[in-house]
Amino acid sequence: MTEPTTLQARMHDELREQTLFDLAQQDVRAYLQTILERPVFPTAAALSGLTTFAEPLPAHSSTAASVLEQLHQHGSPATVATLGGRYFGFVTGSSLPIGLAAKQLATYWDQNSAMHIMSPITSTLETVVEGWLRELLNLPPDTVASYVSGTSTANLCGLAAARYRLLERQGWDLNVQGVFGAPKLRIVTSRQSHSAVLKAVMMLGFGTGNIEWVDVDSQGRIIPEALPELDDRTIVVLQAGNVNSGSFDPFTEICQRASAVGAWVHIDGAFGLWAGAVGPLQHLTQGMELAHSWAVDGHKTLNTPYDCGILLCADRAALAAAMQVKASYLVMGENRDGMSYTPEMSRRARVVELWAILRYLGREGIAELVYGLHQRATQFAQEIQALPGFTILNDVVFNQVVVCCANDELPDKTLVRMQASGECWAGGSIWRERKVIRVSVCSWATTPADITRSVAAFRQALEEASR
Ligand SMILES: *Cc1c(COP(=O)(O)O)cnc(C)c1O
Repeated sequence: MTEPTTLQARMHDELREQTLFDLAQQDVRAYLQTILERPVFPTAAALSGLTTFAEPLPAHSSTAASVLEQLHQHGSPATVATLGGRYFGFVTGSSLPIGLAAKQLATYWDQNSAMHIMSPITSTLETVVEGWLRELLNLPPDTVASYVSGTSTANLCGLAAARYRLLERQGWDLNVQGVFGAPKLRIVTSRQSHSAVLKAVMMLGFGTGNIEWVDVDSQGRIIPEALPELDDRTIVVLQAGNVNSGSFDPFTEICQRASAVGAWVHIDGAFGLWAGAVGPLQHLTQGMELAHSWAVDGHKTLNTPYDCGILLCADRAALAAAMQVKASYLVMGENRDGMSYTPEMSRRARVVELWAILRYLGREGIAELVYGLHQRATQFAQEIQALPGFTILNDVVFNQVVVCCANDELPDKTLVRMQASGECWAGGSIWRERKVIRVSVCSWATTPADITRSVAAFRQALEEASR
């Protein structure tokens, strides 16, 4: 056979003629045009449109335009408008326009970021951003960055590096000898540790039943005096940004105590670590540079598009050993090979968006973005506090506001109504044994007017819930 198949020829045409990409671009424009104003959560009609996707796998190929059209017509209205300014659920994050645009370009590049030889541009940006992050967050000079999907994976990698190093110091080569029969390591963390930390503890074989839990104060911060004796077999996991209250563990004293005995400190700073880049918020992260590894998301408070987490590790060799790969065909050179520091081999070039956003904002812009979230959260707390029926339960030190109502039935009832209004979206949580509404200000797009409008939606929903 010398001719391409019909399908192949069609796809060649699609690539050459580019109408498909023009169509996609039109959809992008139409989507972005309404994103700031449309209902934050999809309407019932939009959700019912999702049934169109419940079809059997087609037997034959179709036109690219028809596939795209189905996706845009029924998919776009059913998205949650996290990109806009009135989504306060979980701890998510919007995306800066430059992040979306850079990601779009990188999508067309479709680079494999495993090794320098596979994508010199990705390797270069990964190196540059590593240096920028060290500087921005004031981390030790040899700190390495590992670009992963999110903080869950970053925590996993950080604890894997810790496990490797602490066992190596006990004369145990984890990679060769394995976990079974290894000297027992200890995990010390607070009762407020994020579930992603517990997941990593489980996946790495430490067992949550072996965790030495430490008590917290009224803001959810670990109490240093309550820490057990540390030793050179201990991994301490601290938190920069409590997922409810936004509070930060006190780092300096605990890191000093850990370092003195050879313990390893890992900080889960998924959304909070960026406070370290903001002058007026730096008191929150004070001493964090004394830890050994840090996990942080690009896709939360920094507002990169999704699928952007970073592990920073002061012990480059430990991370590389924990993520080690060897194969005869791998050419590891002098340049950075990203897969030396990640669980994956093949990986998309997620550093592109991260680079673009840091490059675009610069130090001042980063500080303005992150501090802005804090300002809006403070505004929210003030405005909601002024309404009868709502009480704030936390010190709003960062971007999180914990709101309770007169009784524990009202939060859920209020949330249902508020979410259905499409005006804004927040979720529920439990804080110190009370049912609460949790507000997380995470979007660059949130204006003071968005806050006022959302507070009005809160008031309306509570009134309806109270009837
Ligand atoms: C969001 C979050 C995680 C998990 O991060 P992903 O990016 O969702 O994997 C871990 N810890 C904290 C404190 C978080 O807020």
